[in-house]
Amino acid sequence: MTLQFTSTNGRSPAVNLREALLAGQAPDRGLYFLREFPRLTPAEIATFPGLPYHEIACRVLSKYTDGLMEPAVLAALCRDAYDFAIPLEKVYDRVHLMRLDQGPTASFKDFAARMMARLMGRFLQEDHRRLTILTATSGDTGAAVAHAFHNIPGFQVIVLFPLAEVSLSQRKLMTVLKGNVRTVAVDGKFDDCQAMVKQAFADPALGRIPLSSANSINIGRLLPQSVYYFYAASRVARPGEPVVFSVPSGNFGDMMGAMVAKQMGLPVRKIVVPVNDNDAFPRFLATGVYQKIVPSRNSVSNAMNVGHPSNLARLVSVYGGQMDETGVLHRPPDLAAMRRDLFSSSISNDRTRATIREVWNQYQLLLEAHGAVAWTGFRDWLAAEPLDGGPAVVLETANPAKFPEEIEKTIGFSPDVPPAMEAMNKLPEDYDRLGPDYGKFRDYLLARHAVPG
Ligand SMILES: *Cc1c(COP(=O)(O)O)cnc(C)c1O
Repeated sequence: MTLQFTSTNGRSPAVNLREALLAGQAPDRGLYFLREFPRLTPAEIATFPGLPYHEIACRVLSKYTDGLMEPAVLAALCRDAYDFAIPLEKVYDRVHLMRLDQGPTASFKDFAARMMARLMGRFLQEDHRRLTILTATSGDTGAAVAHAFHNIPGFQVIVLFPLAEVSLSQRKLMTVLKGNVRTVAVDGKFDDCQAMVKQAFADPALGRIPLSSANSINIGRLLPQSVYYFYAASRVARPGEPVVFSVPSGNFGDMMGAMVAKQMGLPVRKIVVPVNDNDAFPRFLATGVYQKIVPSRNSVSNAMNVGHPSNLARLVSVYGGQMDETGVLHRPPDLAAMRRDLFSSSISNDRTRATIREVWNQYQLLLEAHGAVAWTGFRDWLAAEPLDGGPAVVLETANPAKFPEEIEKTIGFSPDVPPAMEAMNKLPEDYDRLGPDYGKFRDYLLARHAVPG
């Protein structure tokens, strides 16, 4: 019997990982999740300090793929997905910074996108199926998804982005790829791109094209994000010693990775969940009343400008509650238990920038805005509870070189560009252009999927 995933809305049949992965969202618009998690024993976790990242990934993820994929196949996918460094820097005492920014698109989204693409690719190949990944992006996600699916057999990838709204370095991360990735610059806003993609998914005229969105609510994006918490603990904690993690949060996919690790048996003392001005969650934790932020608020940590974190439904379900996709609570979670496990504060732009300056001056530690939110939230937690000599890991989720203007403005110099990003900057760009016009986009999709001969 393979693991069965159920919808957080509770009105869809249970499915296995393969089906959950290829479907994305459940038919009742809920998110696929587990009521009970597979466990790793303390003895299994105690072997992790001697293992490289890709082997830890394989041991964690095999708990989900057992019965669906040969262990040797999973091992090869993990080795192929995780071929880059994961620096863990000791900052002071036992407080560490984990940099998840060394993947091909320099954000932590590479960890999830690369594994999801390989798992989906494998399942697709077994079925002799083909899939077109259609995604709209305001920057980081599109780049991570495009790179992750690049050259994976069975997939065509089409990424729509608003030409005037993405930075040059963000654009280059998408438009220099060839092969099975096409990028489309839309003369419009991100909202136009998203509307065009949504309309395509609902369009019966495109019925013969198998489309998938590979978006951030897919369970295949969430599970791989539990692995780096096991990895970090194996490097900074003694066996069985609980760790504090601070995770800068927007849609709450990253922090749910920590929660999944905890459910699987990793000793976690606290998950610190700092957000920017979009403070729906810390208010909820304090008051028990949930009110999403509409429209979402802009801030310097722009990848976290989320007014209603979609993964909150999963978090609430861990604590026995039920929240639907619009943010309505049908059953309240155990708030006291949530407060024991989690800490959350809202970090303003001023405090974010002050932290970038302070940690640079104090420790010569270079953070960009998302990591600075994590650091500031960690300090807020320290003011409430003593660390008492225990280990802590703060997550930096993007490379400072992705935001040179902001860093320059805050501390007076531009960060070094990593070699992989520099190499990509030199490649020629190639992208198509369309107006914000759905009819033209439909013709474009049909032309690209014409039946040959
Ligand atoms: C997406 C993103 C986040 C937020 O992660 P969630 O899983 O949405 O909470 C944080 N930092 C960076 C750099 C991101 O791209």
